[in-house]
Amino acid sequence: MRIHNFSAGPSTLPMEILEALQKDIVDYQGVGYSLIEASHRGKVFDGIYNETMDLLKEIMGIPAGYSPFFLGGGATLQFAMIPMNFQGNGTAYYAKTGTWSNKATDDAQKLGKVVVAFDGKDSNYSTLPDPHQLEIPQDASYFYYCSNETIGGIQWQEVPEVGNVPLIVDTSSDFLSRPIDVEKFSLIYGGVQKNLAPAGATLVIVKDEMLERCPDTLPAYLSYKTHAKAKGLYNTPPVFSIWAVNLMLKWIKKNGGLVGMQQRAEEKAALLYDLFDSSSFYRNPVDAKYRSRMNVVFRLPSEELEAKFVAEALNEGLSALKGHKSVGGCRASIYNALEKSSVETLVAFMREFERRNG
Ligand code: PMP
Repeated sequence: MRIHNFSAGPSTLPMEILEALQKDIVDYQGVGYSLIEASHRGKVFDGIYNETMDLLKEIMGIPAGYSPFFLGGGATLQFAMIPMNFQGNGTAYYAKTGTWSNKATDDAQKLGKVVVAFDGKDSNYSTLPDPHQLEIPQDASYFYYCSNETIGGIQWQEVPEVGNVPLIVDTSSDFLSRPIDVEKFSLIYGGVQKNLAPAGATLVIVKDEMLERCPDTLPAYLSYKTHAKAKGLYNTPPVFSIWAVNLMLKWIKKNGGLVGMQQRAEEKAALLYDLFDSSSFYRNPVDAKYRSRMNVVFRLPSEELEAKFVAEALNEGLSALKGHKSVGGCRASIYNALEKSSVETLVAFMREFERRNG
């Protein structure tokens, strides 16, 4: 029996995708071998890969002048690749809004000049800067932010205004969960293991204009120019993840595209935030304007009750509700594939738990 899986990543996938992978894992659509046994330069993978790139461009509205590709190394490798490629002798501006943007800032600081344009530390990362009031000098190398902090449960609801400064975003935990205006960005990236597929691939979409900045002194793999030039096939790409991304993109298209994903996310998130707003037992610590539609964090009146809540929820088939160990509390991750009925089951359990313990 499948349980309700609120894991923050890797995360739940639609049943029909797991079954499609299972069906084809031994003999991919009658060719006599599996896709994961096929050369990444052969016809079978080629078909999947080209279709995946076309679907991605269609669903995200990626215009000409941008190069999408999948890399290994996790989203974490991008923390270093971004400054290596784009910082130059200039100054990069970072918004520190929680664990993931803080890690990216740390790496950039090791590689060049960085100015912290916003630091949420004093509010314990419970709020974000006003996206219309950022003052980023127009000669900045770039401005970097994380659109959704997976651990803190805080999400930018608008794209920050930075004038002509190249804009770079880590969208690992809200990738393809809402429409995005690609043309506002110089680089968009994220791991696929939350909203899209099994772990192993990081999707990078880079504006070709930026490639002129990549220093020729960089080792080949670390330069975005290498991957853009080779259309993502410079080395062996993570073929299994890409296969699953292909299936998930078709699923997203069938379910209303990015507008459909946004609607699903808002409906699911509202079930939980409405509960917090009508309860004195559950509390969400995030500034209401910036509550995440992907990672819903909450506290109970005591750590003892939180431990009891997580254990009893698991007994009821509601798994992975423990908050990240660095912040404690509870967290429900409600990515694209998680069904609304799972959130409804969770909310019913939460009301019952409050009745018994409140
Ligand atoms: N950025 C964000 C927002 C994340 O949530 C994560 C992983 N949870 C990362 C970066 C790092 O990703 P990876 O583990 O794929 O390196």
